[in-house]
Amino acid sequence: MEPKFVGLIIGAIILWGLWAYLTRNKCTKCKSTKFVEVARQHIKSYVKKVRVSGGDRHGQIDTTQHDEYKISYECNECHHIWTKRVKESERL
Ligand SMILES: [Zn+2]
Repeated sequence: MEPKFVGLIIGAIILWGLWAYLTRNKCTKCKSTKFVEVARQHIKSYVKKVRVSGGDRHGQIDTTQHDEYKISYECNECHHIWTKRVKESERL
């Protein structure tokens, strides 16, 4: 493999790690990652159908169920409570 290409891959991995580190869930007050989920409110759910283009399943319909929740977390360190909108999807 070309050294330039290897450098590009390493760079991408570092960026990905940094992004994951910066966007991971943590207390909005003290930045602690020790917290528990205290409440979960369902906002909405919908089904999405997408026609697959290319690959083995070309032309078939992909159905996914999407759910949106408002989740409340409580920090174990400072007992601060915050909420976050979370989207979950599942293939049907
Ligand atoms: Zn906290």
